[in-house]
Amino acid sequence: MVKPTETMADPARPHFNFDNSFARSLEGFFKFCQAEPAADPKLLQFNHALAEELGLDPVALDSEAGLAIFSGNVTPEGSEPLAQAYAGHQFGGFAPQLGDGRALLLGEVIDTRQRRRDIQLKGSGRTPFSRGGDGKAAVGPVLREYLIGESMHALGIPTTRALAAVSTGEAVYREFPLPGAILTRVASSHIRVGTFEFGAARGDVDKVRALADYAIQRHYTEIADAENPYLSFFAAVTDAQAALVARWMNIGFIHGVMNTDNMTISGETIDYGPCAFMDSYAPGTVFSSIDHHGRYAYANQPVILAWNLTRLAETLVRFVDPDKDRAMELLTETIERIQPLYETYWLAGMRSKIGLSTEDPLDLELINDLLSVMEEGHADFTLVFRRLSQALRGNSDAVQNLFEEPAAFDVWAQRWRKRLEQDGIAAETCAEAMDRVNPIYIPRNHKVEEALAAANRDDMVPFSELLAVLSHPFDEVTGNEDYAAPAPVTDRPYKTFCGT
Ligand code: AMP
Ligand code: MG
Repeated sequence: MVKPTETMADPARPHFNFDNSFARSLEGFFKFCQAEPAADPKLLQFNHALAEELGLDPVALDSEAGLAIFSGNVTPEGSEPLAQAYAGHQFGGFAPQLGDGRALLLGEVIDTRQRRRDIQLKGSGRTPFSRGGDGKAAVGPVLREYLIGESMHALGIPTTRALAAVSTGEAVYREFPLPGAILTRVASSHIRVGTFEFGAARGDVDKVRALADYAIQRHYTEIADAENPYLSFFAAVTDAQAALVARWMNIGFIHGVMNTDNMTISGETIDYGPCAFMDSYAPGTVFSSIDHHGRYAYANQPVILAWNLTRLAETLVRFVDPDKDRAMELLTETIERIQPLYETYWLAGMRSKIGLSTEDPLDLELINDLLSVMEEGHADFTLVFRRLSQALRGNSDAVQNLFEEPAAFDVWAQRWRKRLEQDGIAAETCAEAMDRVNPIYIPRNHKVEEALAAANRDDMVPFSELLAVLSHPFDEVTGNEDYAAPAPVTDRPYKTFCGT
């Protein structure tokens, strides 16, 4: 076994070129800390394409030396591992002290497109923010985050990424012992709404200002010279998050635990815990076993979006205007724009899902009526949109068969076809455009569970196959019908759990 804090300088070894701006700029928002050693690590999955994108050497990393880094057994040269501090509203209640209890930021690299990216280990042991937790993660949840995050990326949705997953060779104790694992996660940053709340809760004005300045520099350089940069910063975050949640809604994704500590400033999806994709369309869908009141139900996500962003606004009041009332007024104006902004993004996404390329005032009603018919007919969300294009190609049965009451769908489809005529686009052109926005392959819950169960038995083949399918979600492949099908109907509703 390699010693936990060994530093490498050998040029043949994986090299990262770390440039750690967070550690340099934001004292008070982190604690330096080392990973705990892993007894017998094994590489479960490695993301070559992402390594290349990060400007890293995939061959050097897909090795024993890479494994030593991804397991936390070796600290690569230039890394200054740290656990970030944050607070957060969890299910509406404020927790002033959360932070990376099971994660370590190894450092930041500048990728091949000149973007600054965080490289983080998740599950690498206790940190000063672990509270009662063990700082560990299990194979199942680590691979779940890997799979769903990479699927989201392939779907074109802003997200953190997975560079590697390793098993540690040790058991982690949840309800029963589980095989331990570590995820190497890549993010445009790990700054959360909760990071701002952490500084604000301590009344540390200068530190919150420094955090805002840092976040502007890192994510929203275009507003650095704005007349009111902190107000513009808030508006920029609301815009990014409204766009993100609209994408989730367009694709049937339920995050499951939209606490403010799980909402990024960058607008990337983060912290895949109890998340899942909806099968048949039901706006009240909740998968998470701990979301008893449906706070984070599918249809409630846009509401929570505004609620969480309001928590961010509260941390910025004193920077927006010296006159508190004026500051509140300005921030409130921006908060009031969140809902319409979200709706604009959502509607644009839905228009393209049903093949519309122009705007008509009646489109909203047309789309909402389809959703109603889907809800009443218990139709599969993903497949309805995908098969609408087949209807344009002359096969209406495929989509019709998804509804318990096909007649109601037919009535809607006649209106839809009339509306498409208005656009005057050739049917095949329109169908092709629809197939580029409506995936055929999403991480179906039963497929994810199958892959994770096999991985727990040391069989990574189903995981790799599923990952390969999900990496091309819009390209239908003969022989992969099984991956497109919804879960067989059972009397036990699908449940997800938090314990990464
Ligand atoms: P999450 O539910 O993943 O968003 O995590 C909420 C908070 O609990 C974060 O501060 C985590 O770092 C912390 N946490 C979750 N699991 C563990 C664990 N096994 N050990 C230590 N901290 C944890
Ligand atoms: Mg979290």
